[in-house]
Amino acid sequence: MSQPINRYKADLRDFRFVLFEQFQMQDLLGKGPFANWGREEVETVLDEVYSWATKVLGPLNAVGDAQGCRLENGQVYTPPGFKEAWKSLFDAGWRSLAIEEKHGGQGSPFTLATVAEEIMCGANTAFNMYPGLTQGAADIIMNFGTPEQQKTYGDKMLHGVWSGTMCLTEPQAGSDVGSATTKAIRRPDGTYNIVGTKIFISGGDQDLTDNIIHLVLARTDDAPQGTKGLSLFIVGKKRPDGSPNDVAVGGIEHKMGIKASSTAILNFGENGECVGELVGTEEQRGIQQMFVMMNYARIGVGIQGLAVASSAYLNALEYAKDRRQGSSIKQWKDATAPRVPIIEHPDVRRMLLDMKSRVEGIRALAVKLTMHLDRAKIEPEKADYHNGQVDLLVPLLKAYSSDQAFEICATAIQTYGGAGYLKDWPVEQYCRDAKIFSIYEGTNHIQALDLVGRKLSQKGGANVQAFAKEVGAFVAANKEHPVFKDAIAQLGAAMESITSTAMRFLMWFNGGKMELVPLAANRFLEMMSEATIGWLLLDAAVIADKAMAGLPEGHPDRAFYTGKRYAAQYFANNVLPTVAAKAALIAKEERTPIEIPDNAFATI
Ligand SMILES: Cc1cc2nc3c(=O)[nH]c(=O)nc-3n(C[C@H](O)[C@H](O)[C@H](O)COP(=O)(O)OP(=O)(O)OC[C@H]3O[C@@H](n4cnc5c(N)ncnc54)[C@H](O)[C@@H]3O)c2cc1C
Repeated sequence: MSQPINRYKADLRDFRFVLFEQFQMQDLLGKGPFANWGREEVETVLDEVYSWATKVLGPLNAVGDAQGCRLENGQVYTPPGFKEAWKSLFDAGWRSLAIEEKHGGQGSPFTLATVAEEIMCGANTAFNMYPGLTQGAADIIMNFGTPEQQKTYGDKMLHGVWSGTMCLTEPQAGSDVGSATTKAIRRPDGTYNIVGTKIFISGGDQDLTDNIIHLVLARTDDAPQGTKGLSLFIVGKKRPDGSPNDVAVGGIEHKMGIKASSTAILNFGENGECVGELVGTEEQRGIQQMFVMMNYARIGVGIQGLAVASSAYLNALEYAKDRRQGSSIKQWKDATAPRVPIIEHPDVRRMLLDMKSRVEGIRALAVKLTMHLDRAKIEPEKADYHNGQVDLLVPLLKAYSSDQAFEICATAIQTYGGAGYLKDWPVEQYCRDAKIFSIYEGTNHIQALDLVGRKLSQKGGANVQAFAKEVGAFVAANKEHPVFKDAIAQLGAAMESITSTAMRFLMWFNGGKMELVPLAANRFLEMMSEATIGWLLLDAAVIADKAMAGLPEGHPDRAFYTGKRYAAQYFANNVLPTVAAKAALIAKEERTPIEIPDNAFATI
C-alpha cells in the first residue's frame, strides 16, 4: 500500500499580509493580555502549525475519508492514526494558543488561534471536528460552570484529557431547537436524571479520549415549552468516579463527507441511570449559555469553509500549471501548435482568479472579524463598537464562506477536468466535506434570518450604520485612486443597493409584507457579503499598490502584490455589479415560490 501523503496547501504569504499589512495585528502585540506576544512569535507559530499540520494531519485526511469511523459493541473507533494525532496536537500546544494563561493557555490573540484553526481544518477537517467541538464545550463550562465544574471538567477538556460534544439536535428538533423533549428529572442530591435521544452528535463517541463530556440541552418537567425552558447539562460518557453513565451509542451516520468525524445517535438514560449536572446553578439558562458561545461556533464553521476552499484552489492551481492540453487560443488555426499547460486557457484563468479572489476575500473578512474581538480587549472604550461589528459580520462569515466553499470546490474540480472527479486528487473529498458547512450550526437560511431579522436592527441600527460609515470612508478616500477608481465606484454603488434593500426590508416588516422577508433574506446576505468582500479586497489592493511602488524590479513580493491588485479588480468587475442586480430582483417583490400551490410542484 502506498504511503499516505499530505495534500494540504496554504499560501502563508497571504496570511502574513492579512495579519500584518492589512489588519495591523502588530498594534495589539505586546499590549494588555497580549503582552507576551510579538510579531516574531506569531510568525513562528504560523510556520510551525503549518509544518505540524502538513506532517501529522494532512496525510490522515484521505485515509480518514476512505476508512471512516466504525461502531463495534457500542464503541466508536476512529481511523488509524487519529489517536496519535490527538496526542501530538495537545503535546504541541496548538489548541491552547488563545486560552487564557490562568487556565494553562498561551494567551495569544484570538486571531492567531483562528488562523491556526484554518490550517488545521484545511489539513484535515474531519479530525479537527473533535478538538474544535471540545474547545467549544470547554468554553461553555469555563464561562458558566461552577468553579468545581471548571476544575473537574473544563480543565481536562481544554488540555485534551477528555473531549466534549454539543447535544442540541433531536429527531423532531433540528432548526427548531425549542421543540427538544429530552427530559431532566431532579434527583435529591442536586443532580439530574437525563432521559432522551439526541441525533447527529459530532464526536458523540470516539476512541481518542478516556471520557467524553456531552453538553445536553434538556427540559425539567415544570419548565415552559420552547427554547426558554431549556437547561444545559454536563453528562459524561463516564461519571467523574470513572463508572459508566448510561449513555448508549444508538448508531453512527453514513455520510457524504467528513467521514472520519463520527456523527452519533446518543440514547441517554435507556436504563434510567444517566446522571447529569446542571451547568452553573440556574435552570432554564441553556439557550443563553449556548448563544453566548454561538458566535465562536459560527466563526469556526466559516473558517472550515475558508480552509477547505483555500486548499482546493491551491491544488487546482498547481494542477493547472502542470497539465498540458490543447494549444494556445492565439494559435487556434495551427493544428501543429504545441500543447500548453491548461493555465494558459482563458477559461481556466477565469476559474483560478475567481477562486483566488473569493478565498482571499473571505480570509480578509475572517481576520477583520476576529481582530474586532481582539481589539475589544485592548480598547475597552471601543468594545461596544468592536463587539457590534462581530455580531453583524458573524452571519456573513458563517453563511457566505460555507456556501462559497462548496462552490469553490466544485470550480476546483472543474479546473482539473475528469481528474478532479477522481479520488487520486483531493478536490472531490473537499467538495463532499464542504457541503455540511452550510447546514450545521444553524442552516444558512437561519443565518440570513438572523442578519435581516436581528442584526440589521440591533442597537437601533447602530452596528450596520457604523459598518456603512467605514465602507463610506474608504470609498471617499479612494474615489480618485489612479488605478482603482472605477472599482471603487462599483463598491459605492453596491453599498447604495445594500442601504436601499435594508430600507425595503423595514418597509415590508412594517407594511404587512412579512412573507417577502425570508424569501429575500439569503439573497441579501449574499449581497452584503459580496459588498464586504469587495471592499476588503480593494482595501488590500490599495495597500498592495502602495507597497509595490517601493519595491525594486524582480523583488519576489511584486508578484504577490500584483496578485492582490488583480483579485480586487476581478471581484469588482465581475461580482460587485451583481449586488445591484440582486437588489433590483428583490425590489420586484417576486412571489412565485409563495404562490405556487403545493400540488403544482409535481403531480406525483
Ligand atoms: C454531519 C452533521 C454533524 C452535526 N453535528 C451536530 C452536533 O454536533 N450537535 C448537534 O446538536 N447537531 C448537529 N448536527 C445537526 C445540525 O445542526 C442540523 O442538521 C441542522 O441544524 C438542521 O436541522 P435538520 O437537519 O433537522 O433540518 P431541518 O431543521 O428539518 O431543516 C430542513 C430545511 O428546512 C429549513 N427550515 C427549517 N426550519 C425553518 C424555518 N423556521 N424557516 C425557514 N426554513 C426552515 C432549513 O433551512 C432546511 O433547509 C449535525 C448534522 C450533521 C449532518
